[in-house]
Amino acid sequence: MNVRDSEVICGLLQKAGYSISLDDKEADVIIFNTCSVRKHAEDRVWSLIGALKKSKNLRDSSRSGTIPIIGLVGCMAQNYKEKAFERDADVDFVVGPADIDKIPVIIKGLCVQQTKTRGQSPCGDCPRFFERKIWETEGVNRPEEIYHTGFYQDQHHAYVVISEGCSNFCSYCVVPYVRGSLRHRKHKDILTEIQEAINHGITKVTLLGQNINAYQDNQVNFTKLLYQVNALAGLKEFDFFTSHPKDAGVDSFKAIRDLEKLVKRLHLPLQSGSDRILKLMNRGYTVKEYLALIDSYRKIIKGGLLTTDIIVGFPTETDKEFMETCALVKQARFNAAYIFKYSSRPGTEAAKMVDGLKPNELEKRHKKILDLQRGISKELRSR
Ligand code: SAH
Ligand code: SF4
Repeated sequence: MNVRDSEVICGLLQKAGYSISLDDKEADVIIFNTCSVRKHAEDRVWSLIGALKKSKNLRDSSRSGTIPIIGLVGCMAQNYKEKAFERDADVDFVVGPADIDKIPVIIKGLCVQQTKTRGQSPCGDCPRFFERKIWETEGVNRPEEIYHTGFYQDQHHAYVVISEGCSNFCSYCVVPYVRGSLRHRKHKDILTEIQEAINHGITKVTLLGQNINAYQDNQVNFTKLLYQVNALAGLKEFDFFTSHPKDAGVDSFKAIRDLEKLVKRLHLPLQSGSDRILKLMNRGYTVKEYLALIDSYRKIIKGGLLTTDIIVGFPTETDKEFMETCALVKQARFNAAYIFKYSSRPGTEAAKMVDGLKPNELEKRHKKILDLQRGISKELRSR
């Protein structure tokens, strides 16, 4: 999602006349497009901004010379809002995920006609002078145009957002709070965007949505959309992320089997192998239902790949419940799994629960299940 959002931002800025630099020494504007899913991701951004300040000497009170404008964008921006300026006074603007279309105007707004002596401005004729801090975090819907700037980081593969936000409210997850409730893009707009990518020379596409199987635009549901994408001439291969076990079903599995361009792989996050923890997580399925689902997937798509996400150390998870997750990992034999240490996210339901697990115990559980999965992945690869 964030890789695509970064492309969108680059595309909008390029359209407004800026050029993209990957060198922070020469950039006039530095934008951090951020993630809030785990605390670690947020900590890294603050330390990167700190390192940047050191290298650029941003504490210079005259704010002249080669001081860049610093923007905090994405989920962290939505999370912190104007409090981001208290956390780091060198952040100049803060823009949430639903407001990224406003970034070019915000940058322009930050450079006001003040003293002509303050050097070259990223906006051309206006001198660099930061009048005030700007934050935009009240947006709800993204304008459709932002997806059509023609900027692609990879010239062969494109990410295409089909739905934004999420309304599932898994109890540990910050996404519904920072990306808003689930919204579906119009299927015609999605197909137009993919056609534009194909015209650009792109042959592979990844469809994106936090709960992708829930896609619905009038009569077009997710499976129908898959058929429509498959029919686009010039497209060679496509895949999608992420399926939620409570909404994924036989229809989409049959599409994976039948559509020649669709990659024979399913990413189906499990999160936990304990029914009690799954309930506390508000995931909406049981272990039995999850196993039945992967069984039907494997029956329909012989040899199809299966990957998952797992969280260890959710509040109140006992050793026994952790072992249930390990047992499920052994039974399910995933080709690969992303295994995360639980990270408490302020504002979520899980953050209110008592989290008694000691850090060294969390490390132990994480390592144990990681080693277990590595062994399984290796064995499946060697076959
Ligand atoms: N919408 C997708 C995933 C979004 S976040 C889905 O529901 O599958 C990607 C993964 O990050 C999740 O599947 C989960 O395993 C992990 N995750 C989310 N919040 C987390 C948290 N607070 N602590 C640790 N891992 C988390
Ligand atoms: Fe978060 Fe759950 Fe939505 Fe995935 S489905 S983004 S884990 S709330």
